[in-house]
Amino acid sequence: MSQGQSAAYSPICPLCREPIRLEDAKTDEDGQAIHENCYLASLKGTAPTTGSGSN
Ligand SMILES: [Zn+2]
Repeated sequence: MSQGQSAAYSPICPLCREPIRLEDAKTDEDGQAIHENCYLASLKGTAPTTGSGSN
C-alpha cells in the first residue's frame, strides 16, 4: 500500500498509532492530537478494542 504522501498533515494518534483525520482530530488536555474516540476512551480508562464485542 504505497499511495504516496498525503497533502494534508496527519498527526499520529498516540493511543492507537494510526493517522488522525481532521474530522476525527481532537486535542486532549496536553494539546496532543488524538482521535475523538480514543480521547473519550482514555477518559474512561479503557483502550479501544478491535475485535468481537463491538456494539
Ligand atoms: Zn486513535
